[in-house]
Amino acid sequence: MTSVSLVSAAARRLEGKVAVITGGASDIGESTARLFSKHGAKVVIADIQDDLGHSVCKDLNSKSTSFVHCDVSKEIDVENAINFAVSKFGKLDIMFNNAGVGGVAKPNILDNTKAEFEQVIGVNLVGAFLGTKHAARVMVPARRGSIITTASVCSTIGGSSSHAYTSSKHGVVGLMRNTAVELGQFGIRVNNVSPYLVATPLAKDFFKLDDKGVYGVYSNLKGSLLKPEDVAEAALYLGSDESKYVSGHNLLVDGGFSISNPGFSMFVQKF
Ligand code: NAD
Repeated sequence: MTSVSLVSAAARRLEGKVAVITGGASDIGESTARLFSKHGAKVVIADIQDDLGHSVCKDLNSKSTSFVHCDVSKEIDVENAINFAVSKFGKLDIMFNNAGVGGVAKPNILDNTKAEFEQVIGVNLVGAFLGTKHAARVMVPARRGSIITTASVCSTIGGSSSHAYTSSKHGVVGLMRNTAVELGQFGIRVNNVSPYLVATPLAKDFFKLDDKGVYGVYSNLKGSLLKPEDVAEAALYLGSDESKYVSGHNLLVDGGFSISNPGFSMFVQKF
């Protein structure tokens, strides 16, 4: 029995839906592709890692999962990915703008180059803009759809990543809010999912941390580790009809990290 058939038809929360997932070849995007597929969705993985993307599709049901090469910073690629999904599966219900890069860790702004800044913005923010635009192109005539973008805890606070990354993730919140307002009239919902640190190559490379370091002393919620699968569950909720009236929301999956102030809490606990 495959993992797909382990979820009963009644429990399949995305039955009949078609999703495009950018950055779907690895980690958070891959977990989401697997979870969406398990819940009955037809999934197009759009990524620049062709071999990995094809291998995830091969592992899932090849009739309901496809890979398309797509660099989200290039409009022609994003346009093609959406057209590919519609021609292959007939429609688009869920757009998950998940592709992202961490950029280089240079805390001092004087060390940051314009090219490095623009590269991160080009993938994380312009990529989400292009994904939202081309998803809306096919969702507006259909009068339905759910657009989700992976932001980050860095979308709500400063000082937790590079200037470029934090700017890009704040930017996708603005994009999400503006497009949620515009696209509501067409029945299209637009939201973000904002994870705390997940021990993927993106985070480990940027922070130069191993798994223990990523999860360790900085988290607020203890006794639980944030995994790509947990972020996928949040995306599943936002993609499914269970969130049918949720739009314009930045869903933090951060164990309370972004509302905590560890230094001050330790001071208060001494009372
Ligand atoms: P990852 O590096 O494993 O995955 C990113 C994916 O995006 C990869 O498959 C990569 O090939 C793809 N990608 C990169 N540039 C691309 C481009 N130009 N076009 C298309 N695809 C491209 O990292 P991840 O942690 O799974 O990151 C997924 C998302 O989650 C990113 O948007 C990231 O900013 C966000 N995020 C990650 C963390 C974390 O701690 N890992 C925390 C908060 C938010």
